[in-house]
Amino acid sequence: MDYGPAPESQKEAQAWLDGHQRKFGLFIDNAWSEPAELFASTNPADGTQLAELTQATDADVERAVEAARRALPVWQGMGGHGRAKVMYALARLLQKHSRLFAVLETLDNGKTIRETRDIDLPLAARHFYHHAGWAQLQSEEFADYRAVGVVGQIVPWNFPLLMLSWKIAPALAAGNTVVFKPAEFTSLTAMLFAELCVQAGVPAGVVNIVTGDGRVGSAIVNHPGVDKIAFTGSTEVGRLIREATAGSGKKLSLELGGKSPFIVFEDADLDGAVEGLVDSIWFNQGQVCCAGSRLLVQESVQERFLNKVRARMENLRLGSPLDKSMDVGALVDPVQRQRIAALVDSARAEGCDVWQPACELPADGSWFPPTLITGASTSAAVAQAEIFGPVLVAMSFRTPPEAVQLANNTVYGLAASVWTESISLALDIAPAIKAGVVWINSANQFDAACGFGGYRESGFGREGGREGMLEYMTSLAEDARPALPVVEAKAKANVKPAAAHPFAIDRTAKMYIGGKQARPDSAYSAPVFGANGALLAEVGVGSRKDIRNAVEAAHKASGWTSATAHNRAQVLYYIAENLAARADEFAARIAAMTGSKNPEKEVQASIERLFYYAAWADKYDGLAHQPPTKGITVALNEAVGVIGIVCPNEAPLLGFISLVAPAIALGNRVVVVPSEAHPLSALDLYQVFDTSDLPGGVVNIISGNADELARTLATHADIDAVWRHDGSADGCAEVERLSAGTLKRTWVGGAKGRDWYSAAQSGGRAVLAHASQVKNVWIPYGV
Ligand code: NDP
Repeated sequence: MDYGPAPESQKEAQAWLDGHQRKFGLFIDNAWSEPAELFASTNPADGTQLAELTQATDADVERAVEAARRALPVWQGMGGHGRAKVMYALARLLQKHSRLFAVLETLDNGKTIRETRDIDLPLAARHFYHHAGWAQLQSEEFADYRAVGVVGQIVPWNFPLLMLSWKIAPALAAGNTVVFKPAEFTSLTAMLFAELCVQAGVPAGVVNIVTGDGRVGSAIVNHPGVDKIAFTGSTEVGRLIREATAGSGKKLSLELGGKSPFIVFEDADLDGAVEGLVDSIWFNQGQVCCAGSRLLVQESVQERFLNKVRARMENLRLGSPLDKSMDVGALVDPVQRQRIAALVDSARAEGCDVWQPACELPADGSWFPPTLITGASTSAAVAQAEIFGPVLVAMSFRTPPEAVQLANNTVYGLAASVWTESISLALDIAPAIKAGVVWINSANQFDAACGFGGYRESGFGREGGREGMLEYMTSLAEDARPALPVVEAKAKANVKPAAAHPFAIDRTAKMYIGGKQARPDSAYSAPVFGANGALLAEVGVGSRKDIRNAVEAAHKASGWTSATAHNRAQVLYYIAENLAARADEFAARIAAMTGSKNPEKEVQASIERLFYYAAWADKYDGLAHQPPTKGITVALNEAVGVIGIVCPNEAPLLGFISLVAPAIALGNRVVVVPSEAHPLSALDLYQVFDTSDLPGGVVNIISGNADELARTLATHADIDAVWRHDGSADGCAEVERLSAGTLKRTWVGGAKGRDWYSAAQSGGRAVLAHASQVKNVWIPYGV
């Protein structure tokens, strides 16, 4: 018995296109511009032209940003409930027109109707429902935040309407207005969505949609009137956007590429895992950022499992995406096909085994058969590059640690799928994998309540969930920051040394690496002068080599990350205790360095801040989400890894503690550049650390020139995040720009000051969020 054809009607979608004379202008201020400078949108399944769209100009983007800016008070003035009602209407309208959307999406993108109808549309509507709820609850749940403002949003072509929903729903819920750019290949459902906005009562200017190629994206990114950029797409363009927005103060979230592992242990339900694999790598022809494109299978079951995979691949049905019984549709464009083919050819050239089922490809359009590659080395292009096609690369492992090591052998960190019948093994593996999402015995699960986003070069920021809402808000405490840091005047160099103490012995403050005092590799020291101009001490001038040593030591101290939160809290309390025991000495040092009239206050505040983050260490819990599937999604707040920190010049002790304590409380290890002007308080601290059970390598201190050291931190491949808070606007911009290399997370203060004594500005969940990243672990249950 074979399948008969089961075509979905395209009549309504074609009629809708005809109704618009198959030409679309831009949607700005709830009005359509005249179509101009047209480009074609084609059906990738047969190459026919569907419609023509407008290439927006810089002036169009300008108009869209102005409209969005004007609409801000209107939209925010409607209040949470007012916005919730409009968003509820959008959710309802998406449902009412779901079939039209699904067919249009399939025509425009080439993905199967089964997917657009059963996955893209229900998830898009769910996103608006969920976020209508956040709009309703905003004043209660996010009372200390405000909307960011005008948001620029740029999405790719693989989930056109779904990505639109992921972007627009949280932005609107929080009270922002948007300028949205769909991908050039797939703009049609965004055009239909624009019509729904008018019907739903979205006020003019709240949603603006500008079409066109990357130049339009670039114009949005570079527009000074845009307060935040939210981007989904390639890591390459993500990097460009990180560089372009550096120093602009724009908030940024990047959801980028992936090379996600699909790990099958020998005790897994192998048939279930095969079905999971189908959903993982052949879903949307593998054009999915979180596709399980690397199969890691335990050696003992490798052959059996791969035989099952090949048998299943023989049964995958490839053909007309509008046929309801097709599994694999068309690729979005011939360009994509060429890219995939080139990567698969490279695997052949490297001697890999490339296997494809017997499968007839349609004559017209853009197609690629399901493909299995075995025998690739871990460094092969197909094992490292995001293929973004229906191509699976399989490898084997022997032990769970080897599986983790292979899983993490990538620059990306978006998702992972883990298959085992042992919940104990699964929950042991999940935290060890560097990825923002881990699916246990499942794959490609999404829900608006559960955050989604990457680690490492898969980007930063989350979409969905509470953490996704925070991406579209600014804390009120940030607004309250002083315009400028209060920097102590620097002393002049040609002054007399301080009057010698009777027991004085020449002392050079060393740096601190791996729990040991360290001399600078450069063998240079620089004088530190006090407020009265007297020479206080010499400190080492740290260099690139010292930073490298410190990063190495920080990586070796990984036991700190796996230590219990209780243990970390104990150490922080102990540091506070030992600092209190030497409070007078620290106060005297602050007074000598800065001339502070009340140095005791700074020491006292530092002790209190240590208590504060010790308190948080075992209370910054994650969440247990209940998505509408049978299972639970656990959102874990994980450490970021190794963080480079450049401290403020003002409040040399409190500033240091306020940045280091939250980082280490949550399990990070740090490489810290203390205040350049007043480094001695921080360097004195290592004697406190040494007596407080802080393991060597958790805190490393490198004194020296802040600009140079920050540059090294921002370009170091093994540092996961850089924080800079010394009031240098140019320095902060440089950190953001250089961090683009490995897409580090950054937290920079810019030129503004920060009240280090203020609990709101220097504490709270906003700071803890910088010190952590959310991993969502999906755990299905039941039979
Ligand atoms: P891009 O990253 O180029 O495109 C994503 C979006 O950004 C599109 O709307 C694009 O416009 C826009 N864009 C392009 N250049 C710029 C720029 N300089 N500034 C601002 N916006 C810009 O991805 P592609 O579509 O070119 O796909 C190329 C590869 O990227 C794929 O093969 C795949 O490997 C990867 N990719 C990964 C995705 C993911 O979700 N992880 C999604 C899409 C692609 P336009 O499309 O109109 O050119």
